Formats: sequence, structure tokens, C-alpha cells
Amino acid sequence: MEPHARIVIIGGGPGGYEAALVAAQLGAEVTVVDSGGLGGACVLTDCVPSKTLIATSDMMAALDTAPALGIRSGPRPGSGSGSGSRVRSGAALAAVDAPRLYARVRELARAQSADVAARLAAEGVEVRRGTGALAGPRAVEVGGARIHADIVLVATGARPRELPGAVPDAERLLTCRQLYDLPELPRELIVVGSGVTGAEFASAYQALGSQVTLVSSRERVLPHEDADAAMVVEDVFRRRGMTVLSRSRAASAKRDGDGVSVSLEDGRTVRGSHCLLTVGMVPNTRGLGLEEAGITLDSGGFLPVDRVSRTQAPGVYAAGDCTGVMMLASVAAMQGRIAMWHGLGEAVQPLRLSHVAATIFTEPEIATVGVSQQAVESGEAEALVVKLPLATNARAKMQGFRDGFVKLFARRSSGMVLGGVVVAPRASELILGVSLAVEQHLTVDEIAHTFAVYPSLSGSLTEAARRLMQPAEDE
Ligand SMILES: Cc1cc2nc3c(=O)[nH]c(=O)nc-3n(C[C@H](O)[C@H](O)[C@H](O)COP(=O)(O)OP(=O)(O)OC[C@H]3O[C@@H](n4cnc5c(N)ncnc54)[C@H](O)[C@@H]3O)c2cc1C
Repeated sequence: MEPHARIVIIGGGPGGYEAALVAAQLGAEVTVVDSGGLGGACVLTDCVPSKTLIATSDMMAALDTAPALGIRSGPRPGSGSGSGSRVRSGAALAAVDAPRLYARVRELARAQSADVAARLAAEGVEVRRGTGALAGPRAVEVGGARIHADIVLVATGARPRELPGAVPDAERLLTCRQLYDLPELPRELIVVGSGVTGAEFASAYQALGSQVTLVSSRERVLPHEDADAAMVVEDVFRRRGMTVLSRSRAASAKRDGDGVSVSLEDGRTVRGSHCLLTVGMVPNTRGLGLEEAGITLDSGGFLPVDRVSRTQAPGVYAAGDCTGVMMLASVAAMQGRIAMWHGLGEAVQPLRLSHVAATIFTEPEIATVGVSQQAVESGEAEALVVKLPLATNARAKMQGFRDGFVKLFARRSSGMVLGGVVVAPRASELILGVSLAVEQHLTVDEIAHTFAVYPSLSGSLTEAARRLMQPAEDE
């Protein structure tokens, strides 16, 4: 491909803007067409806002442990009675200022979107606000104008799925994108769906002070995750007073006076002040001229791609949630970059999903990378497994928590680390050690010989590796 290749990217989320940065760096002329705001749903409505909300709910959860750590409310010793300097003690004595919290969430999202815009502008990427679609070979149409493109990247994302019997009204019946304009915290929140998004919001709102009912169609919450990890989180949910309705499928939900009522398929009705619907995402792939370009969507409407992000149409690549490949911002960004490296003739490593680190931001968090317990149990992967509860970790004791564990998977023959699961506060940060081991093909011996700080939660990772070391065989 010549250096001044013309690239048009439809969608300005992480799949699109990260691709744009790579293409610009490689000397291409890049246009991003975006309808919803740079940074995409990731920055404006989904990932960034939810994790900002969770920063506050984490703080509230931490306050719950304050009395056990020797903190009580009242004036600090030596401070004058009128100083206003007070220490919060326990979530019961701390209250969330919802308008301020939501304003912070929106402001942070806007600022992040502005950062993305500034970065694209600095790299010379042209941005056009509008809805784009393929318009014949090597062209994209936006607002009646046709832009020539040597390469097109489709990165249009996805939107929350709606249930036919539960149409969101943005007031009481909500999707995860409609939470941040509410005037108050939901008093009684019914969360329908116990996948990643449902579990994260159920965990957050319980900690913020809502009474949460989690409606789960499956035996346990987070049915697609490590079963031990999901069990820890479900136990914590119940202990904190959440009502978890297992094997309960919601049939419909409607406004009911000042609140909502959710009808379950078994005939029961659950009432609350608000209902949050988290029943999956559907791709934004209609009206993009894909079929006309010779692309067949899959049965879920997703845009099939190979491991270098190629679609079935020459010159058309796709990245992110619209492809249905592991719906994560990091994966979207990597697919977008890979598309550009490939399209512009650079050496490229095809996408490796087995190395993706992911976190569920419940409290405690669940972080995973590499092979899963399920793969080991089904015989798909051959591995030794060790699981160490954090209840015996000195740092965990000092910090006053006991729910969580680290789990490591290693190849029996070579000791090579194949994956791991961490359930802990800030597991999202701890998993990097395991990710590095998986990516760099490190062995449990190498991890075991690595210094961890004492006391630290990461000390449990090196200890797990020690437990997996195999004695040298006698000659
Ligand atoms: C509640 C929630 C929390 C999440 N938390 C995390 C997390 O913590 N970590 C993580 O890794 N992932 C998280 N995700 C997933 C993450 O948000 C997505 O994987 C990511 O947004 C995908 O990026 P994308 O570029 O494919 O699409 P998006 O971010 O959805 O961006 C697509 C963009 O394309 C625009 N667009 C659509 N159609 C057109 C068109 N025809 N023309 C022009 N523009 C168009 C849209 O307006 C949007 O701006 C979360 C998702 C949800 C729902």
C-alpha cells in the first residue's frame, strides 16, 4: 500500500480511534466518521461512566470496613468543635450525593472524549460528524458526500438489547446508558440479567445504598465466568443484603405507579422503584451498506472477521463490538490497530484471544487471563491448578478483607503458566503479573523465583507458583 493510502473509519470508539492513530502514524490520510461523539459508547456511556460510578461505590464499600479498622465517626482529637472536620464511619453514616456523583460521571466522560478529539487532531486525523455507510467499492457516504477510501474500517459498536416486554423509558425502566441522568439513586433497584454488566451495576448500587434485587435466569450469577470466582461474588452480594433470584427469568417489566414491576416467567412479580435491563448487546450493523458490499452478517447480526480484522469484502475491515469478538474496549482497540497494520502492509501478529486479560468490576473484582477452569475440566486444556484463598494472606488481613483468591494454571510437563484468576479488590491491577507470564511463556519456577513485596497480595501469586513447582525427577 502506498504511504498516502486513504483510510475511512466509520465509528469513533476505541476500535475506530485507536486504528486512526496507527494509520496516521504510518502516514495514511485518515478520516473518522462518527455519529455519537469521539471515544464512542465506551467513553461516553459504557465503560468510562460505569467505572467512574464504581470508583464511588468502591469508596462506599471500603467505608463499610472502617469500624473494624478502628475508625469511628466524630471530631478528630484536637480539632475544634466547629471545624467541620469529620471522619465518616461505615457506609451507614455516609450518604451519596447522587446529582454530584452523576455530574462527575458525565463530566469525566466529556473530558475523556475531548482528550480523544485532541489526540486525533494532533495526529492530523480528519473527523466528520455524521452517520456513515459504505457506498460501493472503496467509498463511504456521509451527509450526502462521498469519500474515497482505499481501506474502510467499520467500528460502529453495539447497543443494549431490549426485551419485547420491557421497553425502556429512561425514567424507571432503564438501560445501562440511562442511569446517569436520574435525579436520585434508585431506592429499590431490580437488575434484570446477571452477566458482567448486571453484576457490576448490582454490586455498585448495593454499595451506593440502593436495595438491589438481581434477577438471574441461571443457577448462579456470572454464568460464563470462573465458577469459584462467581460463587465468591454471589456470597458477598447476599451477605451485603442483596436479593439474588436464581433460575428466575424475567418475562416483562412495566411502570407500576411510582415504581416498576417485573413479571417472572414462573408467575412471580418483583416490585421496586427502578429496573435496570442488562440482557446483552446488539451490534450496530444495519443500514451500513454491508450486504450490498457482499458481506453476510451472522445470525446475531454481527460482522464476521478473521484474526487480522478482514471482512468478506476486499478492502473492508471491521473492529470492536460490531464484530462480536470478545466485547471489550481493549480487544476493539487491538482489532482496529491490527486492521491498519495489515491493510497498510506492516508485519502483524493475528489477534490472540487466549491472551486477553479481562476484569469484572464487582466488589471484589474478578480478573482473568489465559485458560479457564472449564477448559481444564473439559479436557480442552491440560493443566495443573492451584487456588489460594486470600483469607490467609497477611496484607488481606491487615486491610480487613477475606473474600477472594488467586488461582494459577500451569502446564504439567513444563510448568509453563497458562492462565490465572484473581478475585480481590483491585484484581484488575494484580492480573498483570499473570498476563506477563502467559505472554512471555514464563514457568512457575520463574514466577516462584521472582520477589514479591512482603506483605502484599501479589505475594499470593508467587506462593501459588511455588505450590505448582514440581520436584526434580531423580536421575
Ligand atoms: C456498561 C458497560 C461497561 C463496560 N465496561 C467495560 C470495561 O470496564 N472494560 C472494557 O474493556 N470494556 C467494557 N465495556 C465494553 C466496551 O465499552 C466496548 O467493548 C467498546 O465500547 C467497544 O468499542 P467499539 O469501538 O467497538 O464501539 P463503541 O465504543 O460503541 O463506539 C462506536 C461508535 O460508532 C458510532 N457509530 C455507530 N454507527 C455509526 C455510523 N453508521 N456512522 C458513524 N458512526 C457510527 C457510535 O456512535 C459510537 O460513537 C463495557 C460495556 C458496557 C455496556
